[in-house]
Amino acid sequence: MPVLPPLSDDPLVREVSEFVRENDLARRYRELDRSPSFPWEEFRALGRAGLLGLRTSSALGGRAAPLPRVGAALFHIAYRSGTAFGKVCLQPEFSSVLAAHGSPELVKEWFRPMMRGEKLIGNQITEPGAGSDALALALSVDRDGNDYVLTGEKSEVALCLDADAAIVYGKVSEGESRGGVTAFLVPQDLSGVTRVPTSGDLGERWQRRGAVRYDHVRVPERFRIGAEGKAFGYLRDELTQERALLAAIYLGAAFASWEETVSHVQRREVFGKPLLRQEGVSFSLVQDEARLTSDWLFVENALARLDRGEPAAAEAAMSKWLAVEDGLRAIDHAIQFHGGRGYSRDLPHEQRWRDVRSGGIAHGPAEVMLLVAAHELRTRGTT
Ligand SMILES: Cc1cc2nc3c(=O)[nH]c(=O)nc-3n(C[C@H](O)[C@H](O)[C@H](O)COP(=O)(O)OP(=O)(O)OC[C@H]3O[C@@H](n4cnc5c(N)ncnc54)[C@H](O)[C@@H]3O)c2cc1C
Repeated sequence: MPVLPPLSDDPLVREVSEFVRENDLARRYRELDRSPSFPWEEFRALGRAGLLGLRTSSALGGRAAPLPRVGAALFHIAYRSGTAFGKVCLQPEFSSVLAAHGSPELVKEWFRPMMRGEKLIGNQITEPGAGSDALALALSVDRDGNDYVLTGEKSEVALCLDADAAIVYGKVSEGESRGGVTAFLVPQDLSGVTRVPTSGDLGERWQRRGAVRYDHVRVPERFRIGAEGKAFGYLRDELTQERALLAAIYLGAAFASWEETVSHVQRREVFGKPLLRQEGVSFSLVQDEARLTSDWLFVENALARLDRGEPAAAEAAMSKWLAVEDGLRAIDHAIQFHGGRGYSRDLPHEQRWRDVRSGGIAHGPAEVMLLVAAHELRTRGTT
């Protein structure tokens, strides 16, 4: 029995696969590229089905499923319908800083409605002068009575036009936590917030990225998430988990292209025989199969370690790195072996390629994944 697609008999995998089919998500994935907008209808339907927050605790309305099963479910969503809806499913996990460190009122007012697909929360870390090096943030946070005043600019952020609120990271200018990173939940309709969309993206267009300017935006103290100056540690934990889960999504999309290509080259005759009989084709496809399979086993191991509470920042970072590297190569072969049609928008491979390509930059660029792993290697040394 092949390793991929993983855990096909798992009840959670069966449930999400059924959801994809019933809601025609494969067709919707293609539509989101042509008419980019946040898929609110599907977000609400996922909320109603209890499929938002697959990892989130049951106390907060989530499934609290073990991470390897969550990874397998995300793989299958991407395998059946592309990268978008796994990421939509992960919105609560992308806000785990709020769930873990926000006050009970803030969680009730914002996180719980998100679990029902009613409110959307973005993440705003990147700035014009701070991306790969997130500690170089310059968004200033000044105390004024019981409020904080935020001034600066966030850039490149997803859901720029659609998020009802965002978790915004900045640095408090005075006091003991001066220079440390602090997180706030900032409703995007506050006075002084301006959203400026990008002129359009290569892929993942439904995310409608852009810049958000904060011009002396007054945020009440109760919107602070956790302690002043401590948010970089919160963010690190969240990023570790999400990198490993995103890897599962990228592998699922790439595996779909691989499988469709095998089916195509079995049937397509060129120079009097099926393309699969050409070693130039079959060698590439067996290499891709081996890479995607071993990548999944690597990702599954990272998720299992995280599930057991073991440190696995390096494994999570390398999971995303591997999935993007090998996923893009496999999808590129799909484009190639479908010939002229492979390069066209008639087939989903070019969209998958553009979408998986985002993973080489978003949630930390490829080089930063290598930095995280190299740091861990230096610390660990040899055993
Ligand atoms: C689809 C998408 C969605 C995104 N969503 C969000 C979001 O929701 N919220 C948010 O805050 N941000 C978001 N981002 C922004 C993303 O996190 C940043 O673009 C990323 O961290 C890189 O930062 P930067 O753009 O400033 O590039 P820079 O930091 O200027 O880096 C440019 C390039 O330099 C290289 N590089 C960087 N450091 C090193 C190094 N040490 N060694 C070697 N090479 C290096 C990398 O190739 C990198 O891509 C998103 C980006 C994309 C593409």
